[in-house]
Amino acid sequence: MKRLKTVRLAAAVAAMTFALACSGGQRRAVSQTTSLTEGVTTMAIDSLTLITIKDNEGDKRMPNKLFYGDSDSAKVERLSPEGSVPSSVSCFIVETGGKKILFDTGNGTARGGKMLEHLKAAGISPEDIDFLVITHFHGDHIGGMTLDGKAVFTKAEVYVPDKEYASWLAMSSRNARNAMHAMSAYGSRLHRFNYGEPLPLGIKAMPAPGHTPGHTVYRIGRLFIAGDLMHGFDLQIKDLDICPDYDMDREQAVESRRKYIEYVRQNKLIVAGMHFPGNGVKEAL
Ligand SMILES: [Zn+2]
Repeated sequence: MKRLKTVRLAAAVAAMTFALACSGGQRRAVSQTTSLTEGVTTMAIDSLTLITIKDNEGDKRMPNKLFYGDSDSAKVERLSPEGSVPSSVSCFIVETGGKKILFDTGNGTARGGKMLEHLKAAGISPEDIDFLVITHFHGDHIGGMTLDGKAVFTKAEVYVPDKEYASWLAMSSRNARNAMHAMSAYGSRLHRFNYGEPLPLGIKAMPAPGHTPGHTVYRIGRLFIAGDLMHGFDLQIKDLDICPDYDMDREQAVESRRKYIEYVRQNKLIVAGMHFPGNGVKEAL
């Protein structure tokens, strides 16, 4: 009996050693993804908990033509034979140190966004959010900051890249005015940061211009928040030079995309993208 136990233990140790060798000697970083409720999943990444919240209902696809750009319609059609690319609008909550950080807010209830509804169903209310961190000022990212002109996240300290704020302040479009209204709703709880300045809970902000002038990506632990580095993941991962029409400066967007895909691969990060398909998370690129 005793010998049998020893043999079993040895086999278990061997299996474990093999598993560690296969994973490059590191413990598996991501626990199994659990679906909490419609549109909400959760997973553990080392000591962080990541909660993904869908802002759209059901499946969302982007037509190929949004990626044609000036020339390459044939290439896009060849790489995406179904005629459209799976997409989503997602927001992400990271729980760490007993605090909740929300990255972006989706379209907002008034524009059909489901984020708050999905959050509520998962037992999280807007008052539970301690920090709100914004990647850029497009409506599908800051639309959920306000409802009827009032701040939705009543307790959150809000962090926005100063580069993005200054760029939109200088624009005269209706979208730019809406963005400034959303920011002003947070009064003294709005913090405009420069790259390199310390952010709460060890969040690292990095410039990724191109999609918008101050588009910003974030790293916390082994998680990388990609913002809108890619809109049609399945298509753009095949050719990083392909841009959606939404990229304001295509040349810069390609440069940022190349730089951070390389960064993610080198550092073996888990990536959460606001328009990635499914729950928005890719464990490896
Ligand atoms: Zn977007």
